[in-house]
Order: sequence, then structure tokens, then C-alpha cells
Amino acid sequence: MGIQDLEFFDVNIPCLAACPVHTNAGLYVAAIADGDDEGAYLTARLPNPFASVCARVCAAPCEDACRRGTLDAPIAIRALKRFVTEQFGIEAGDASLVSQVASAPQFERDQSIGIIGGGPCGLSAAHDLRKLGYSVTIYEATDTLGGMMVMGIPEYRLPRDLIAKEIQSIIDMGVDVQTNVKLGTDVTFAEIKDRHDAVLVAIGATLGRGLNLEGHEADGVLRAIEFLINVNRGFSVDVGERVVVIGGGDVAMDAARTALRTDAYEAKASDPGSDRSTMTAALDAARTAARSGARHVTVVSLESKKEMPADEFELEEAIKENIDFIHRRGPARILAKDGKVVGLETIGVRSVFDDDGRFAPVFDKDDVSTIDVDTVILAIGQAVDVAAIGDDGPEITERKTIRVGDNDLATSVPMVWAGGDAAHGPRSLIDAIADGRKAASQIHEAFGGDAEQRPKGQMVKLQQFHRFDDLYDEIDRAVVPTIPTDRRIGLTEVEIGLTPDQARCEAQRCLRCFANILLEPEKCVLCALCVDVCPVKVISIVPGPEVEPERVGVSALLLDETACIRCALCIERCPTNALSMGVWSGVGVPDGVSMPIDLKMPIPVGGSA
Ligand SMILES: Cc1cc2nc3c(=O)[nH]c(=O)nc-3n(C[C@H](O)[C@H](O)[C@H](O)COP(=O)(O)OP(=O)(O)OC[C@H]3O[C@@H](n4cnc5c(N)ncnc54)[C@H](O)[C@@H]3O)c2cc1C
Ligand code: SF4
Ligand code: SF4
Repeated sequence: MGIQDLEFFDVNIPCLAACPVHTNAGLYVAAIADGDDEGAYLTARLPNPFASVCARVCAAPCEDACRRGTLDAPIAIRALKRFVTEQFGIEAGDASLVSQVASAPQFERDQSIGIIGGGPCGLSAAHDLRKLGYSVTIYEATDTLGGMMVMGIPEYRLPRDLIAKEIQSIIDMGVDVQTNVKLGTDVTFAEIKDRHDAVLVAIGATLGRGLNLEGHEADGVLRAIEFLINVNRGFSVDVGERVVVIGGGDVAMDAARTALRTDAYEAKASDPGSDRSTMTAALDAARTAARSGARHVTVVSLESKKEMPADEFELEEAIKENIDFIHRRGPARILAKDGKVVGLETIGVRSVFDDDGRFAPVFDKDDVSTIDVDTVILAIGQAVDVAAIGDDGPEITERKTIRVGDNDLATSVPMVWAGGDAAHGPRSLIDAIADGRKAASQIHEAFGGDAEQRPKGQMVKLQQFHRFDDLYDEIDRAVVPTIPTDRRIGLTEVEIGLTPDQARCEAQRCLRCFANILLEPEKCVLCALCVDVCPVKVISIVPGPEVEPERVGVSALLLDETACIRCALCIERCPTNALSMGVWSGVGVPDGVSMPIDLKMPIPVGGSA
């Protein structure tokens, strides 16, 4: 089996393949099921310097991809990560294992790297570059590091002392930090470039987008990101009693405005509709407005509840907190009296997507209604402050982001890289962290360091195979616990951790996609017993020519690894021991952790293969 074939097994672990930093989530979930919480923590922390932050608010693309989701519901991977970070992460105090993974380097290199922007992208790059021995300086425009982790995400979702500790563990590796230094105002790009051998631009997308709607200049119209930054920085913002949040991407808003002039919005191939990151900001703005004293908070969206690109958990929490939703309406104009907002006029939306699933809303201009409001918050997307870069900086794209290569993060200026929201537009924490890590690796390579060696996994045939408990498919996904709504005052964290019993039970649901069914063809007698027993019909026996035309007169046994649920019924049934289970170590196995080969298999243990 060639390496190319082996790489298939990495991709065939859906949670691992979906994670931008390739966290081997299935491995740590299985370790939790087996009671090895320490190994689970190290596996989760190894590729991610913000494991504790991500355990609270990661967008969790691994859960969207999780194979268990094809059976009933995905594993609650993020909640399980929190279960181990609470025991061994930076928040665990003396029990923390962070120093095993992040410590000052053994030797120092000559080169110095300037990082502009102290958000998750810049900090993750600083973490990896310090580990490699480079001298690192972060230039941050505000007085606090953390970027949108502290300025955007509300405290009731992400405690500030947790972020501060996780950032401090990176600074303690020997990073020089210069706060209140804003590129474009306090320092020019040329000055920073002169001071360092390489530069990473990670200034995020920190500007709120406006909306050129009639009435948009009235008192009481706020941009979501600016509203959140002010509240998160401790300034009081008077929003009155009735607040409307207009949620949806800038494209969605353009569509609604265009509708006032035409009957339908003409979709362009690139139109994403209202994306998930914008919707997250809309929900955060609505819940923060309620905590800022508003009595009636309403989110107006083009989409129906089902169509909204929002995180389901956050949406349900907002509903529990009495946030109202008006679906399938677009903003038409903001009504003002004496320069102050008094209402929002909306028009109906007949449909949002066309038959091919493309964003192509159709409006009903005659269906007009008005809502009385004191404040309108526009959550319609964020923009990169490209003006700060100046004329001597990297090239800017038509989308007003910093241009980077198709396959790397290099900009148009030699020895200058860019990453995170500044290079790709608003995305998620884990994408920004992945960019920081990639930029660090590419900078290291530019100085002659080894390119990041893709860790090569190995397939190990198990002497025993695991069998799920007979009731494995009857365990429901754990409900992530939250505090009661009547205790959700101010900044109190809403989500709480799983108990050990809940965590072990949830972790048992994992299909362990790093396990693979191995076939020894010379032992197979094509009896088809495995075909009969497979509950998801992934094994079939077909005439040879269906696989290769020249294989006339023979049969072939096909096994679709991507659909296999690793139940091992086929192994148990096979009369000749032609089938066995192997474990693919994959990427992301920390040094000194002997997983996954030593993983105890869940009860009951099957027979020898
Ligand atoms: C309200 C809101 C909620 C979100 N919720 C989630 C969530 O739940 N889960 C999730 O995964 N993602 C979430 N995101 C997205 C996530 O926070 C961002 O994708 C991520 O923070 C981007 O990281 P970054 O480092 O690229 O930029 P940022 O986090 O924006 O950091 C950029 C840093 O650069 C600094 N800077 C800007 N301009 C300059 C300058 N000229 N000179 C020097 N420094 C400068 C900024 O002050 C900031 O510290 C949310 C975003 C928002 C706005
Ligand atoms: S079932 Fe387990 S190993 Fe498979 S994708 Fe989900 S978490 Fe990962
Ligand atoms: S382990 Fe065997 S029987 Fe079970 S789903 Fe996979 S191929 Fe089918």
C-alpha cells in the first residue's frame, strides 16, 4: 500500500479531515470513553494553542462532518473537548499540562518576526514561531490582545479570564508585545518591515459594514461589531427598550435593497447569502442588547428559521432568552423622527434560494409592514481596514482583503505573509488559528527550516477487534448543559460542562473512524456472509470486470470505507478470518502518548481476528 493510499485513511476520519488544524478528534473522544482524559487533552491541545477557548466557542466543523451524524446526531465533540480542558487545560491551574506543550525554545535563532495584529491568527503564529526559536514582536492597535475573542464574542459565551490565561501562556514563551500601536497611525508598514526579517499581517476584519438604506444616518442606527466592541470594552450603550437586529450578510442586504427597485434579486455565482459568521454576530448583538437593558429584541432575517445559517445551539439559546425572530422579511427603510430612529419598514420575502440552492431571494414589494423601534443594529458583515496597510504594503483584492497565494499565505511583498480574517474575510477562530500556524511554518521554511513534515501515520492490525455495545445506536447525543434562563444575568457564562458520566456516555457513541476493516484477499472464499451481515450495506461482491475490465471470470469484494460504521459484525461473521480491524494512527498523536494503538477497546471486546 503506497503512501498515497495511506493518506486516504486520514481523510477517511471525517472529524480530523474537517478540522482546519487537523485535530484528531475521534482519537481524543475515544480516549475519553476509555477514561484516559490526560491523553485526550494532549491530543486536543497539540495542534491548537487555543484548545480551551475552542472548547467553548469553536464553530466545530468536525461536528458537521462527524460520521455518527449520518446515523442520528454527531458526537458532541466540542463539549467533550471542554470536559478535558477543564481538567488539564490552562483553566485547570496546577493540574494544567500546557507547559508540556508550550514552553520557551531550547535555542534562539537570529531572525526576528513582526506580527501585526494580536488576534487568534497573530497569537497562534507567535506560539509556533517562538517554539522554533525566532524572536517575535506583536504590534496590537488596542490595549488588549485577543482580537475578536475579546472584542466580538460576548463574555457570557467566553469568560475573559480564560482567554487572558491562554494568551499569557503564549506570551510567557518569550513574545514581545507592543499594545496601542496601530499600523497606519502609530507606525507605517515600511517601518515594521525595516525592523524585522519577516512580517505577518493579521489585522482581522474589524470594521462594521454600513447599509445605504433610507434613514441609515439616524440616531439609534448602530453597526453590530461596533456595538459589541463598545459593550465588551465596558462602555455603556443606551439601546432603549425596543431593539431590532437586521441579520444577514451584506449580500443579503443588497438583495433586499435591490428588491425595492426590481421584483427579484439576480444571483451571482459567488453570492453566499447571509453567511454563518454574520449570523453569529447578529445573535450575539441581539443577546447582548437584551443584557444591556432592552425589553424587546427582535432579529429580522430574510431566511426562515430552518434556512438561517446560524449555529443551532446559539439560535435555541437566543429563543430561550426571549429574543423574537421575524423570518422572511427584508429591510426596506429606517423611519426617523427629529433625527432619531422610530421604526423599521420591511418587505416580504417569497423565497430565498432558487431550485439549485443558489441564493436568489424573491421579494414581495406590496407586502410592507412597520415595526416600532428605538435602536436598529445592522449585523451585515465586517470589513478589513485595508487603508491601514498604506501604499507600501501588500496588494489588496477586489473584495478588500489582503491578497495571498492560492496555495500559501505569501503576499505580493517578499517576506511578508497575511492570514486570518484579513486575508480571507470573516470566518472562524479555528480558521484563523490554522492560518497563524501555516504562516509560521511557511516563514520557517523561507529561512531554510524544514517544511512542515506531514506526519506519516501507520496502520496497525489489531489482535482484537472492538464491538459496539448492542445499544450503541440507542444512546442519544448528550444535551450540552446550560444555566437556567432566570440566572442569565449580565456576563454569567451560559454553557456549562458535561459531568464525567455524561462525557463517558457521549464518548461511547463515537464510531472510532480511525479503525478500519482490513481484508486479506488470499484468505477470502467469497462466501458473502459479510455482505449479508453488514447493517449499512457497504460490502458487495461484484463481477471482476466491474472493477477492472480484464478481470473476467472472477468476482471482487468491495468495501466502502467511507460509509462503514466500524461495527465489526463482518469480522465476527467471517469464517476464514480474512477480515480484521486495523487502527490508523493518523496525524495528531502527541509525542509520549501511546495512542491509539494502546486504546482499550470499548466493551464488550470481540474475539481475536
Ligand atoms: C461577534 C462575533 C462573534 C464571533 N463568534 C465566533 C464563534 O463563536 N466561534 C468562532 O469560531 N468564531 C467566531 N467569530 C469569528 C472569529 O472571532 C474571527 O474569525 C477570528 O477572531 C479572526 O481572527 P484574526 O486573528 O484573523 O482577527 P481578529 O480576531 O479580528 O484580530 C485582529 C487583531 O488585529 C488588531 N488590529 C486591527 N487593525 C490593526 C492595525 N491597523 N494595527 C495593529 N493591530 C490591528 C485588532 O485590534 C485585533 O486585535 C466571531 C466574530 C464576531 C465578530
Ligand atoms: S464518529 Fe468519532 S471518529 Fe468518527 S467522525 Fe465522529 S468523532 Fe470522529
Ligand atoms: S464493520 Fe463490517 S459489517 Fe460493520 S459497517 Fe463496516 S463493513 Fe459493514
